Formats: sequence, structure tokens, C-alpha cells
Amino acid sequence: MNKPPLWVFLLLLGLLTSCAAPKTASLLRESAVMASPSLTAGLPTRSPVTMTPGEADLSPSVTMTPSLTPVPTDTLTLAPTLTPTWVFHPAGNLVVPILLYHHIAEPPNDNRYFVSPEMFKQQMEGLVASGYTTISMATLVQVMDQGGPLPARPIVITFDDGNLDVFQNAFPVMKALGFTGTVYIVTKSLADPKYMGVDVLKTLVQAGWEVGSHTYSHSDLTKSKEGLKAELYQSRQDLQKVVGVPVTSISYPFGISNDYILKKAIQYGYTSGAGLGGGSDHPQGTDLYLTRIEVRESYSLGMFGGLLPWWNGPIEPTPTATRRP
Ligand SMILES: [Zn+2]
Repeated sequence: MNKPPLWVFLLLLGLLTSCAAPKTASLLRESAVMASPSLTAGLPTRSPVTMTPGEADLSPSVTMTPSLTPVPTDTLTLAPTLTPTWVFHPAGNLVVPILLYHHIAEPPNDNRYFVSPEMFKQQMEGLVASGYTTISMATLVQVMDQGGPLPARPIVITFDDGNLDVFQNAFPVMKALGFTGTVYIVTKSLADPKYMGVDVLKTLVQAGWEVGSHTYSHSDLTKSKEGLKAELYQSRQDLQKVVGVPVTSISYPFGISNDYILKKAIQYGYTSGAGLGGGSDHPQGTDLYLTRIEVRESYSLGMFGGLLPWWNGPIEPTPTATRRP
């Protein structure tokens, strides 16, 4: 039998390499992104996985199976799943931005506690594009204390005061993007139509949201006339009756707390406490006063992004923040 001429081989070789090249490059790129968290998890370090904004996007919708290891790339197979890859973190310090909102509605005359629905949507879409996955406060403190799995870019999205506009304007946007949040409820206002009521809270819990207490009367806890037992313990009991699941997180009105209040919060069954202060670094042991990043009405999308780690969008400096009492 005659051998095919040399040019046939060369033509075939050319065809093969031109088809294979893009696929190989994309596999290499994917494996570089996905391999690094699993590698980091095996190291004896307490630092969480961090990725700089310049690195490739970690798409929340296409991930590899957790069993994959960074072996030579030509043997890798990609298995798209609906959930992002969660990687084990040892107990210790964590980097997790915790956002704080109050109202999601059109701001009446420059009110810093309002974020417009349009801006809120842009912020949430920016978080999705940057590869964030929402977690609850309960998950955050559990991993901080005992270790456990976290997504590559975790974020907690919290809403204080239980304003009804959060259910009307934030919940649908977040639901469509696969995000969940944490709402802190003032139990004295449960029957007030301006605030979330029993049915709303049940709907949120069914959708995977976390419900926490923002005390009974929203007083400065260092001066509350109702007393700490009513503010912390009774509000927790009442909320648990309403939502039918454990309530383990407290948000201190005005961010005000002290050592005595923190001790009482633990005694009354809370495992996490939400405060103020900004920043995304949470040293182990700060479970009962976790600092949050307050998102204000005046922030542009770039200023919002400038407050966050891992943000892939535009970044602008934030005006000097004035501290709320
Ligand atoms: Zn409040």
C-alpha cells in the first residue's frame, strides 16, 4: 500500500492544532482560576482565599467539581454545576464584606438611609459580575469559630429596621440573581404596615433569607427603659415563634453596644452580632460585634465598589465618612 504524501500529514496536523488551541487555552485559564482555592485550602494558614480584582472572573454559574485537582490540564474535565464551588476554611480570621442597608426606595431629600431601587440593582448586578456569593451571618460565625466551607468571594447583605420597601424592592432583585440576605426586625413594629409583618418574614425565610433581631423597641441598649431581657431575649423568642426557625443574630440599634450587652446577647442565645465600623476583615472572636459597611444614598457605583474586596467594576474614592452615633 502506498503511503500518503507528506503534505497530507501536514494538512491534517494544521487542522488539528487550529481546532485544539482555543479549547486548550480556555481549559488552562479555567484551571488556573479554580485550582488556586483548593490549593490554598490545604495549606496550614488561617488566611481566607483572596483574589485580586485583576484576576479572571470566577463565574458563579460554571464551576468544576470539587474533586478536581490541578493535574495536567489535558486530562481535566469541566463539570458545570448550578452552585459555586465552596472551599473549606479553617477556623480563624475571615475576610467577608457585610453590607448594611436600611431603605431600598427613592430617597426623599438626600436621606442617607435610602438607596434607590435602580442603584441597588446596579450594585447587586456588579456583585454578581464580580463573582460574589451571599452567605448568612450564621454561616460566617460558624466558619469563623469552627471552620467550614465558604464560597470564593463571600458577602453578607443585611438590612436593618425591617422596612417593607426592602421586601418590595430588594427581595425580587436579589432573588432573580440568586442572592439571599439577612433582615433585622424590631419586634415592636411587626404589626405596623410600614414594616415587614409575619407573612413577609415567612416568605423571606422560605426563600433562604435569615431573620435576626433588631431588639424590641430600637432603643439605645445602654439606656433602654424596656430592659435587656425584653430587648434581646423576648424579641428573639417572638421572632422564632413567627418564623419557626432559630434566630441567632442581633443587630444593635445605632450600632451601640458594650461588653455587658455582648455577654447578655450570648446568654440570651445569640451567636452573631451586627455593628458598625466598616471594613471586611473580621478577626476571630468578633462574632458578637461584626463590623458592617453602610451603603449610603450618595454613593456612586464606583464608591460602592471601592468599599469592597474583589470588586471588578469601576472604583472611585468615598467621601470622608461621618460616623453615626
Ligand atoms: Zn436600626
